[in-house]
Amino acid sequence: MNALTVDSASTIRLGLFFLVFLMLALSEIRWPRRRLSVRRSRRWIANIGLSVINSIAVRMLIPFAGVASALWAQDVGFGLFNQLNWSAWLELLLFILLFDLTIYWQHRIFHMVPVFWRFHRVHHTDEDYDLTTGNRFHPVSILISATLKIGLVVLLGASAVAILAAEILLNLTSMFNHSNIRLPPQVDSLLRRIVVTPDMHRIHHSRDNVEHSRNFGFNFSFWDRIFGSYMQNPKQAQEHMGIGIIGYEGASTRSLIPLIFQPFRKE
Ligand SMILES: [Zn+2]
Repeated sequence: MNALTVDSASTIRLGLFFLVFLMLALSEIRWPRRRLSVRRSRRWIANIGLSVINSIAVRMLIPFAGVASALWAQDVGFGLFNQLNWSAWLELLLFILLFDLTIYWQHRIFHMVPVFWRFHRVHHTDEDYDLTTGNRFHPVSILISATLKIGLVVLLGASAVAILAAEILLNLTSMFNHSNIRLPPQVDSLLRRIVVTPDMHRIHHSRDNVEHSRNFGFNFSFWDRIFGSYMQNPKQAQEHMGIGIIGYEGASTRSLIPLIFQPFRKE
């Protein structure tokens, strides 16, 4: 466990990212849930471009984020888990749960507070919904998340393995639950008891205001049930439901540079 370094963590994260990306992309082609309305290559350049900028921004501006902060907390013996003698597995499980709960509430706050919403809105102005939507976040919102994550990791004294596992899980499940994959209904309802499925999270990307304020969860589906934000089905069929934000359509939502400046647009 102690052999984990910031560099080896990046290699593991990147390798799994490409593997799961490829599997999901092929599944979207084989079993599509909806017909996409915008040319895929156009959106993908913008969405993946944002993802690349985000990785570089975090690495350059907050190098202490993630695994580095966990290694520091472990070195100096800081944080709850570093004071307790609990098993590594229990700490890992607890951290993944608390991390997901934090992300759930961060997501709700991003919708509630106007200045945060401006940055999170970039994620929602995607007019289609596929695995690359799960990587489409404005760099400012990613930097806010990374700072919050440092606070949680240091406070809990989470291990480097725990933060790496939680980050990988979040990244992979974000691609999965934003994917345009048609799951058999029985599989969807079985999975949905524990994890967020594409049909569940797609409701959160509806153009309808009520639906758009439901299903905030990223990994586990139970936070939405516990905190009263769960919605089982949209009003319209999943295949016909409008995706995106009213007033944000066309070229400016599909290109990288306009997306970077979208939060600063006058209302
Ligand atoms: Zn949202």
